[in-house]
Amino acid sequence: MKPQNAACPCGSGAAYAACCGPCHRGVAAPDAERLMRSRYSAYVLGLEDYLFATWHPDTRPPTLDLNAPPRARWLGLEVKRHAVQDAGHATVEFIARYKLNGRACRLHETSRFVRHQGRWLYVDGDVGQ
Ligand SMILES: [Zn+2]
Repeated sequence: MKPQNAACPCGSGAAYAACCGPCHRGVAAPDAERLMRSRYSAYVLGLEDYLFATWHPDTRPPTLDLNAPPRARWLGLEVKRHAVQDAGHATVEFIARYKLNGRACRLHETSRFVRHQGRWLYVDGDVGQ
């Protein structure tokens, strides 16, 4: 389910086809915030391959099964801050809201990203604050 003209799941206000869609089709994200948004959208849309491809090999889990219960129902993303340390390092602070087993949850994370061979990759993040 990837309606090209529908609003992008990342909440940018743009259409999916003009926002996270190109990243999901293989276009390199121009900066860490766009990569982070496209990864959130990939969780919403269940694009496990994309999450793997944009996760640093040193920190990504061996497997990822988005359909394994309990399955999160993603409700929205709010990007609080995008800080660029240098050409190869950036952090993005965000709040993602979701429901798990009917309970409302909130993930507040500051994620670290590195740029490797022209592509931004998610490394890891600090949860809270
Ligand atoms: Zn988007």
